[in-house]
Amino acid sequence: MGLPDWVPVRDELRELEPYGAPQIRDIINLNVNENPYPPATSVVADIAESVRAAAASLNRYPDREAVDVRTALAGYLGHGLTPERIWAANGSNEVMLQVLQAFGGPGRTALSFAPTYSMYPEYARDSHTRWVTGQREDDFTVDPDRAVALIGQEQPDVVLMASPNNPTGTALPLDTVEAVLDAAPGVVVVDEAYAEFRRAGTPTSLELLDGHPRLLVSRTMSKAFALAGGRLGYLAADAAIIDALRIVRLPYHLSAVSQATALAALRHADELLARVDDLRAARDDLAAWLTARGHEVAESDANFVLFGRFDDRHAVWQGLVDRGVLIRETGPEGWLRVSVGTPAEMSTFYTALEEVTAR
Ligand code: PMP
Repeated sequence: MGLPDWVPVRDELRELEPYGAPQIRDIINLNVNENPYPPATSVVADIAESVRAAAASLNRYPDREAVDVRTALAGYLGHGLTPERIWAANGSNEVMLQVLQAFGGPGRTALSFAPTYSMYPEYARDSHTRWVTGQREDDFTVDPDRAVALIGQEQPDVVLMASPNNPTGTALPLDTVEAVLDAAPGVVVVDEAYAEFRRAGTPTSLELLDGHPRLLVSRTMSKAFALAGGRLGYLAADAAIIDALRIVRLPYHLSAVSQATALAALRHADELLARVDDLRAARDDLAAWLTARGHEVAESDANFVLFGRFDDRHAVWQGLVDRGVLIRETGPEGWLRVSVGTPAEMSTFYTALEEVTAR
């Protein structure tokens, strides 16, 4: 495809396609790791009322520093965090782009371990940062010794590691994060978009923030919090790191409507997170079901499972679409990723997968 010649776009962008999973209407969406449960009526009412109240002053710019939202997020995260150690933006995608804008850039290097979240190289591209990937092991864990060796060689300004990792579901032990922090000369981002889904005993890198000023822990309201449409991602770090992000953010980047929505959602955190335990149990059931049918399954601490391997994964994906179920064709060749849905959605998926793989 590519853009027409007359469009004076940057050369390296000309042949590229915009990133994104297929969006298909009237299908069971198990492809973008959303929480399948919409907010309860009472929560919807409070969000609507909060947005109505914000609408009365939409002639004014919003709070540029989003202090109330950052205060509420600090309260939600705990760990002694305060608003000056929290940053928020339109999804953790924007947060991490800002991290690359502030800490990456021309002549600088960002590093991650593949397979991992496919937006990371795009943040690097868009901030003109050199992009380097190490490889995860066969079980998708990160080997600390190999990671430290690669970091020593590449001297990255930014290390990006998702835990639990997308698309594999793999969580990082804290000693791996600490080894990376000790070896890395720059900032280390642990992307905990799926943290609320982690299994009992799996730690969070929030525990390492004190004493590690170059550690940044990113979170989002898009997954467990059931607020993907609200676009609110955030990050916890040292206050001086947050000050660096404030330099590159656009003024008023979080709209008054976004801030009102997030604040109302945070007031109802317990209700919005109420189904997380059900989803974790359904994730474990899903992994067990797939294993029992002879599939390879990656250990998951997230709300999705990577499974395989298929000689023709596209045919399996298409067979599922034909039966009304959309999952994600992503990850290493031969693997597919499925998000955890409602019990009804899972049973449709199970039936459809049995039909497709029986052929
Ligand atoms: N990090 C990871 C690992 C993700 O999987 C996603 C969403 N797919 C994001 C970050 C971005 O989420 P959002 O921008 O909605 O916060």
